[in-house]
Amino acid sequence: MRLVLATRNAGKVSELTMALQGRPVEPVSLDRYPGLPPVVEDGATFLANAAKKACQVCRCTGETTLADDSGLMVDALAGAPGIHSARFAGAGDAANNALLLDRLADVPPDRRQARFYAVLALATPDGRIFTVDGTCDGLILAVPRGEGGFGYDPLFYLPQYGKTMAELPPELKNRVSHRGRAMAWFVRLWDSLYGYAACAKL
Ligand code: IMP
Repeated sequence: MRLVLATRNAGKVSELTMALQGRPVEPVSLDRYPGLPPVVEDGATFLANAAKKACQVCRCTGETTLADDSGLMVDALAGAPGIHSARFAGAGDAANNALLLDRLADVPPDRRQARFYAVLALATPDGRIFTVDGTCDGLILAVPRGEGGFGYDPLFYLPQYGKTMAELPPELKNRVSHRGRAMAWFVRLWDSLYGYAACAKL
């Protein structure tokens, strides 16, 4: 059964696809639908934006759709960049990380707590919508480390592993990250909705 992933973010596509491995699902990214109108992410919450993306893409493609809305919340910045994580500096991941470091320049190491958060929304062509979420706690470093992942991963340090998200092997990131935790709930949801029916359609 086909599942449209309502994103063009290669990092998200790869992590969502990895989490679905071994299931009778064919995930396809928005790159397969070049003409779709962009979704305006004007919701006030991660949940509102995830639901909007899933519903709009499902309506336009006629396919069951999974959307991810996620971001970073930093305690010392009163939860910023939050829902604005992707467009914090307005010029991509490197600029976002530079702005984050700048904003935290005077914040000492023991006051740099942060949390990644992800909401996943599933929209079905018959009009249903389901949501799950996941979080991951960490600290923001003063210097980026690691080459893996995407976004804020090189600055997001996990004390229990002594590594940043960008230093974790992809499988481990996918087990412990906000998205990985949300996906663990999602696959349970998916199996309860489609388990046998999805197998029969392959
Ligand atoms: P969205 O596409 O509006 O959901 O924005 C997500 C943004 O949050 C990304 O562009 C990243 O800046 C950040 N983000 C979300 N998940 C992750 C992650 O797993 N690692 C690093 N940054 C992330």
